[in-house]
Amino acid sequence: MDRFIVSTSDTYYLENIYRDIDRLCDKYSGILGKYVIGKSVESRDILALRLHGGKDEIPRFARDDRRPAVLLVGGIHAREDFSVMLCMKMLEYYCHYYNENKDFDGFNVKSIIDKIDMYFVPVVNPDGLNIVHNGIKASENYDKLKDMKIWGEDHTYWKANANGVDLNKNFDDGNWEIRTCVPGTDVPCSDRFKGYKPNSEPETVALINLCTDIDFSLMATYHCSGNCTFWADSGTHSMFNGLDERIMDELAEKYIYRKTKISPDPKIYGCGFENWFRAKMKRPAFCIELSPYQEGGKQHPDYMFDELVWQYAKTTGLFFAQKAIEVNDDIYGDVERYAAMTR
Ligand SMILES: [Zn+2]
Repeated sequence: MDRFIVSTSDTYYLENIYRDIDRLCDKYSGILGKYVIGKSVESRDILALRLHGGKDEIPRFARDDRRPAVLLVGGIHAREDFSVMLCMKMLEYYCHYYNENKDFDGFNVKSIIDKIDMYFVPVVNPDGLNIVHNGIKASENYDKLKDMKIWGEDHTYWKANANGVDLNKNFDDGNWEIRTCVPGTDVPCSDRFKGYKPNSEPETVALINLCTDIDFSLMATYHCSGNCTFWADSGTHSMFNGLDERIMDELAEKYIYRKTKISPDPKIYGCGFENWFRAKMKRPAFCIELSPYQEGGKQHPDYMFDELVWQYAKTTGLFFAQKAIEVNDDIYGDVERYAAMTR
């Protein structure tokens, strides 16, 4: 087996992530492309990677209309860097197994990726990840950040972006006015401040634009912790006629991730990315909380990634890709008929 590029044996620093993305795109140039979908508060590139099997060329960054597309997202919350490591490692393994044309843990990678475009956004919140790894002084926004409250022991608890906005509470899903703030989090701080306006953050807008452009059949976003899934909210659940629950039952059967209850109260669940995706894109969206539950947002040490996350979650991206193909079939009938329709 050739050498792998992505190393998850310890902390995965931002400069190594960007370097490895370029290396992966070089190594797998036939199937993997990198696209800048926006800039963070501190002007870092927010990158999407598209894994596109088969010989067909798509020269520009657009959806291949003949195929469904699935989106996998990590690093919305700064401190949850297991989610970033998982996206990066899945990306490399799926490319590797595609090229080798070998099964990966029971999944025929080539047959899946030849039917769908897989998009990864491994680091939605690069500025936040930089704060977690290097401290608040490493931020260009230090003058603003230094007076913000940190909920937790130190900078490693940082969850927000470099404006002190919790990106997973910033989306305009129709619940903005009623979305409540925990006392003390109604101003910029390390986590749970929803922002002064919906969709106010460049990272939020990057995800919205990507979803609007590509029209994904399904989306999954990775967080920490709890080894569970959030898969439906009361505002949109009925729209899916049980499809969301069928997918989650299957996931719960195959993986360790426990299925939670439908999120009941938009005052509490509102304005997350997955809530926005369901409400506006009208497709199912899932959140997996990786790693065993930790009190107060404490994170496990980075070196424990393989033990706590990878061995359990490594094929979840392929699982979601497969489900996206099925969702797309539900929408358009079978893929062949859809192709004939659009020919
Ligand atoms: Zn999170």
